[in-house]
Formats: sequence, C-alpha cells, structure tokens
Amino acid sequence: MTIDVATVRKDFPTLQREVHGRRLVFLDSAASSQTPQVVIDAMTHYYEHSRANVHRGVYLLAEEATDAYESGRTAIARFVNAWSPDGVVFTKNATEAINLLAYSWVRRNLGPGDALLTTRMEHHANFVPWLYASQDLGFEVRTIELTPDGQLDLDSARRELADGRVRFLAVSHMSNVLGTINPVADLAGMARAANHTCLVLADGAQAIPHLPVDVQALGVDFYAFSGHKMMGPTGIGCLVARPEALADLPPFLTGGEMILDVRLDGVTWNVPPQRFEAGTPMIAEGAGLAAAVDYLEGIGMDAVRAHDVDMTAAAIAALRGVEGVTVFGPTDTAVRGSTISFAVADVHPHDVGQVLDRHGVAVRVGHHCAKPLMRELRVNATVRASFSIYNDLDDLPPLVEGLRAAQDLFRR
Ligand code: PMP
Repeated sequence: MTIDVATVRKDFPTLQREVHGRRLVFLDSAASSQTPQVVIDAMTHYYEHSRANVHRGVYLLAEEATDAYESGRTAIARFVNAWSPDGVVFTKNATEAINLLAYSWVRRNLGPGDALLTTRMEHHANFVPWLYASQDLGFEVRTIELTPDGQLDLDSARRELADGRVRFLAVSHMSNVLGTINPVADLAGMARAANHTCLVLADGAQAIPHLPVDVQALGVDFYAFSGHKMMGPTGIGCLVARPEALADLPPFLTGGEMILDVRLDGVTWNVPPQRFEAGTPMIAEGAGLAAAVDYLEGIGMDAVRAHDVDMTAAAIAALRGVEGVTVFGPTDTAVRGSTISFAVADVHPHDVGQVLDRHGVAVRVGHHCAKPLMRELRVNATVRASFSIYNDLDDLPPLVEGLRAAQDLFRR
C-alpha cells in the first residue's frame, strides 16, 4: 500500500469508535467521507476565535473570518488547477452547483431543436435538473449508452452528437455506482468538434476524493463537487468554472452579497464568484474545506490514486471469491475507482446491509440515486462498498465474513 493507513486512521476520530462491539469498518465514503481532526479543528478555530460575518467588515474578526472563508477558495483553485480563484463558486453541495447551471444557463439558452447530452450512469443530481428543465422548455435530453461492463459507449456518444444539436454535455467524472472513470477530456473534445459552442460540465463528486483533478486538462467549462466526500465539511460544495463561461452568466439565487448596486428600478450584479454566492456563506465550512485540501495534498493525490487502485483490485478479488456475488462495473482498475456495487444471489441488498452492520461493516444499499442506471443493470438496488485512504486490506475479511453470514441467514 502506498499510504500508511494505520497512521491515517489515527487522524479520523470516528474511526476510533466501535459499532456493535466491533471495530468500525467504514465502507461508505462514496456517500460521505469521514472527517480528519484537522478539518474539525479549522472549523472550531473559526467559531472560537474569528466568529464574525465575512466581507465588508472593518474590524479584525471580520477580516479573519473573510480570510478563513476565502482560504477555501484559493485551496480549491490550487487543488483542481482552476483557471483562477474567481472561477471557484461556493454552493451548498454538488447538487446545488449543478442546479446553478440548470437555472442560470440551461433554462435560459436551450429550447426546441436543441439537445443536452448526458449518460445513463448519472446520479440524479446530474440528471433530474436537465429533465425538469427540458419538460418546461422543450429541448431534448439525450443519453450515452453503456457497454456491458459499465463504461460509456463512445460510438453511442458519437451518434448522439452527430447532428450538431447538442449544446450542453453533462457527464460524471466517476460513477457513484459502478466506479467507472469516464474519459471526460475525449468526450469534451468530441462534443466541441460536433458543435463548437457546446458547454461541458463534469460532475466530479466522486472523482475529487480519488483522482488528481486538473480541470484545465479535462477541457471542461464547469466542474462540480461537494466538500463532504473529500474529507471536508457538509454544507459546502463547488462549481469550478472557466472565467469566460461565468462572465455573462446571470445569477441563480439573488439577494445580499451578489450585487454591485441596487436602485429602486434595477440591480447591477456583482462580478463572479460573488454574483453566485447570495447571502451569508458557509464560513466555517470554507475554512474546513481549505484544511481538507491541505490534508489530501499532504498525502498526495497520486498516492491516493495508487492506493485506490490496489484497494480496488483486492476488493474485487475478495468479492468475487464469495460464491453468489456479482460485481457490477469494469474490472480493469485503469478505468475504475474503488466504489464497488454488487449483488448477492438470493439475498436482498437491505438484508445484506443489515447483517454487515452487525459485523461492524458500514455499506450503502439501495438505488444510490441512480434509478436509470438500476434499470440498465436490471436490478432495484445494489450493495455498495466504497473505499478511501483509511481503508486497507484488513477491512476485507470482515466484509467477506459478513457476506457469508448474510448468505447463511437468508438462504436457508
Ligand atoms: N454526483 C455524484 C456522482 C454523486 O455521487 C453525488 C452524491 N452521492 C452527487 C452528485 C450529489 O452530491 P450532493 O448530495 O453532495 O449534492
């Protein structure tokens, strides 16, 4: 393992506890990661030392609060190689970042005769906003088909792009169900070759904690993600944007902070990113997110990815060693991360999840907010084990034992 997991585990208070008298084996980081002490400390420091509102403050605490919040922005800009910190917009989460685009751009620019292209593996956050807007506005929502092993079918993408009507491409960088890492840069190139005005959004909610991300190299216009999956706090997410793509974008939410001037008969919007951050922002969370970035950078995203590859290979092999278990998604670790969905023959995923919980193993079961994908897989639900930097090979035997116990219990 490229990471000293025993040392990393010590950084996470939650991982020190037991559940049901057993060591907690936390395999649900794709839903939300655990939080290292340094992130908790950064937020506590704000509340204990610098508690004040941000911006416009003329006193020390307000300046410190502003610095703490803005440190999140500069950290994220560095972390994803953003074009500029001004292209980092803070939102509540990835869902809100995507809705910002649905309301500010898609709903104002697409109509009958236009198409938006997404995929059949998206989280509802990167699907429902487009479907909802299309129902109101009459543009077409097209989807890229999947190969049998759960990758995007690039021939299908070519077919959907061929008529040049696709003006917005929305694709996940990594699937929250299959773990598939999608060829975002290739797709962005294909979309622009078919229509040079096409804008491209990558949903990075799952990729951001696992891969070195360079938004400029990916060739996207927008990249959305949440803090809580990348060791950061809940309640803060980001839309990272190419500054030119933000420049003419109207606001999504309006009110305080996002204006330059307000007259009785009109409003002048503030410049990005403030134009998109109405009201008092998530200040402690900005500080916490900066600490999360520092923490991940301290480990190194190349090391994180290498660890993920080892963990994925070992976990897939362990799961396949259990009779009756079917793993969904690609098996080639070059194109997937360590979020692994599987079925256990004759045992309902919810029953599997409950037995695993009694063994101290926390997994997620259900449709994972990806119902169109569940239909493609012809299942109602899956069990999903997802791994992070604080998991290692020691976490696999409890998973396998729990699965065998579930089989013994429910197959009789
Ligand atoms: N996209 C993907 C791929 C996700 O996995 C998730 C979270 N499960 C989201 C979007 C939405 O994230 P959030 O709930 O933090 O807005």
